[in-house]
Amino acid sequence: MTQTQNDIPIVIVGAGFGGLALGVRLKAAGIHSFTILEKSDSMGGVWRDNTYPGAECDVPSRFYSLSFEQDWKWSSRFGRQGEILDYLNYCATKYGIREHVRFNTKVDDARFDDASGVWDVRLAGGETLHARALVSAIGLFNQLTFPDIPGRDTFMGPAFHSAEWDHSVDLMGKRVAVIGTGASAIQFVPEIAKVAGRLFVCQRSPQYIQPKDYGPGENEKTWVHDTSVWRRIERMRIYNEMDGGSDRRYNMELAEKAREVWLEHLRREVPDPEKRRKLTPTYPFGCKRMLQSNDYYPAMMRETVDVIDTPVVEITEKAIRLKDGTVHEVDAIVYGTGFKPATFLPSLDIYGLNGFDLKGSWNDGAEAYLGITVNGCPNFFMMYGPNTNAAASIIYMLEHQAHYIAQCVEELQTRPGQWMQVRSNVQRTFNDAAEVRLKQSVVSDNNCLSYFKLPSGKITTQWPWGMSEYHQRTFEPDFSDFEFSGGVKEAAE
Ligand SMILES: Cc1cc2nc3c(=O)[nH]c(=O)nc-3n(C[C@H](O)[C@H](O)[C@H](O)COP(=O)(O)OP(=O)(O)OC[C@H]3O[C@@H](n4cnc5c(N)ncnc54)[C@H](O)[C@@H]3O)c2cc1C
Repeated sequence: MTQTQNDIPIVIVGAGFGGLALGVRLKAAGIHSFTILEKSDSMGGVWRDNTYPGAECDVPSRFYSLSFEQDWKWSSRFGRQGEILDYLNYCATKYGIREHVRFNTKVDDARFDDASGVWDVRLAGGETLHARALVSAIGLFNQLTFPDIPGRDTFMGPAFHSAEWDHSVDLMGKRVAVIGTGASAIQFVPEIAKVAGRLFVCQRSPQYIQPKDYGPGENEKTWVHDTSVWRRIERMRIYNEMDGGSDRRYNMELAEKAREVWLEHLRREVPDPEKRRKLTPTYPFGCKRMLQSNDYYPAMMRETVDVIDTPVVEITEKAIRLKDGTVHEVDAIVYGTGFKPATFLPSLDIYGLNGFDLKGSWNDGAEAYLGITVNGCPNFFMMYGPNTNAAASIIYMLEHQAHYIAQCVEELQTRPGQWMQVRSNVQRTFNDAAEVRLKQSVVSDNNCLSYFKLPSGKITTQWPWGMSEYHQRTFEPDFSDFEFSGGVKEAAE
């Protein structure tokens, strides 16, 4: 590792796509003085943890991949979990990131020392590391949600969350209850339906599930598809399609038309009127994350599958009990109840200037500037922070955050001992504009309940505009948005 005199120590927390993208970007800028701390024993983030049957991405892999590593030939248009993990590990090795990672190292909290301008990063084992710049790349989808159903702990059979799939449990011929029908469930439910003797799919609210266009696998295509030019064009095509689609959330008329088309699709897929009624959402189209599957509705049509839309009010040693008194005996329970993305930085406490408690300041909902920086937390940056989840490839968003953060680090290197924090008025203006825009979105509709939204109605997860807007806003930091303090700016300024 080469290190120059000005290189400042940087700590990055998390070795998923975010930590990886930032590591590559820092190295490209000639900065090698960074350490990535990862609580697990391997890289991969959500793609290491979510090994449930049927797990795959829902943005085509040509776009759900790093822009600078496009040689990978995806075996399907939507890479499966194992292949995405292989790709991530391949990139980590190829770009020399692995040697920067300290595995089995959980960060508990970090405190900014006002006097020295250094972050004291405290590890779970008690050790403290020091960093001039601190980056959270801990992701949004790793705090698991379980349903608050009485008796959950009394169930005697196997019971697990989809993000902690117990592969030692054989569901062949078993009676299985799946609780929750979110993005993961619609992928693993069809797989369980193929083997289970009986499957009870317990949904709180139905989803709009659209067909998934797999097209031919890239392996099956002609030599044209093997050229880097084709890959670039295909990536751009997917980008344009997704960026254009983001406006639909703001146009109720378009959303209503899309719903009509979707209802036709459901009629074809689910001829059984009773099952179709249960599977028809009453909230507006586009309110929740758009889901895609070609297997889910056919699975619902199986005779062995029951769609349960009556709330589960109790779990007993051997059964689930519904609100109407019905009891279904089951051998196993799978929780497809997802995550708590609106709880930012769940595993990390951050104390900034004068002991500023970042999470305490977020009691009414998390906010940041561009999802990356926060007033009160100098030299602290976030990846996948507040309001950066989008109808996009999150890898695209993470790469933009990496690009922005690396430029801030480069700026800090020219200012020995100085620290930077976003001005509070810049952060306020940005968040006010974001809130106004999000209020116009279908997600703000009163009938729309989703993980995007806090009980107060505030939307803290979603990026309000398209990807192109994020590109424009993050491509180059405007350093007049920041205050710089402490240390001495180099004479070269
Ligand atoms: C099943 C699933 C499917 C998805 N599919 C898509 C998709 O198709 N398209 C899309 O755009 N997005 C998708 N997402 C969203 C996905 O989260 C992002 O695309 C992306 O992988 C996030 O990467 P990340 O590095 O930000 O976070 P993560 O992948 O969550 O990685 C964070 C890392 O930080 C580590 N960590 C956490 N806390 C600490 C701590 N205190 N100390 C040390 N280490 C810590 C974790 O162990 C983890 O390795 C999906 C998410 C899930 C769960």
